[in-house]
Amino acid sequence: MPTTVPCPICDSPVVWGPDAKFRPFCSERCRQIDLGAWANGDYTIPVQTSEQDDDWQDTCPQQ
Ligand SMILES: [Zn+2]
Repeated sequence: MPTTVPCPICDSPVVWGPDAKFRPFCSERCRQIDLGAWANGDYTIPVQTSEQDDDWQDTCPQQ
């Protein structure tokens, strides 16, 4: 009986083995979604990132 883990994106069971090319994701699509989520800042890293963003907006002239 194969070990399965839930895909972090869509919760589909992913068979954990040499055939699971995209583990821990179920597919290339979910892997790309995860990469995109990081790039878009949907995942928050608990390190002063929002403060830095505010500072940047305050000091950047709007033109
Ligand atoms: Zn998935």
